[in-house]
Amino acid sequence: MSLQTQYDPKNIFAKILSGAIPSARVYEDARILSFMDAFPQSKGHTLVIPKVQACNLFDIPADDLRNLIIRTQTIARAVRDALAPDGIRLMQFNGEPAGQTVFHIHFHIIPVWEGENERPHAAGKMADMNELKEIAAQIKAKL
Ligand code: 5GP
Repeated sequence: MSLQTQYDPKNIFAKILSGAIPSARVYEDARILSFMDAFPQSKGHTLVIPKVQACNLFDIPADDLRNLIIRTQTIARAVRDALAPDGIRLMQFNGEPAGQTVFHIHFHIIPVWEGENERPHAAGKMADMNELKEIAAQIKAKL
């Protein structure tokens, strides 16, 4: 089912939330977690996820969505201030045909530099965790 609303508690972001899988964390509070994408499309590719169990735009409660986008703005500002990209793209996919690969709703914050090619979505070689942690620390310092 592409636009599933049957939340799988074993999805990879649920495991990141529980700490079962390590991540380069940028920010955490009672309602959201932000961490570096392990297959970054550009330097500083950051994810923001709610703690509530929701697959996508269609099953997240409105108040959690409001909080998620407001926190995404705060973290995008810190990405901007830390890395000084030429632009920032937000992405959010719903359903496999639309490009979603992890079925726990999230926003992507993707820094863009003019003339630089982005790497493909959710593909390629996993980034080095120490490098991700270094970038996460730079972003965190601007929060
Ligand atoms: P989606 O395709 O669902 O919009 O985005 C899922 C994102 O999660 C992709 O950009 C992919 O690179 C990222 N991702 C997949 N597995 C992991 C992982 O184990 N750790 C982290 N930090 N990111 C992951």
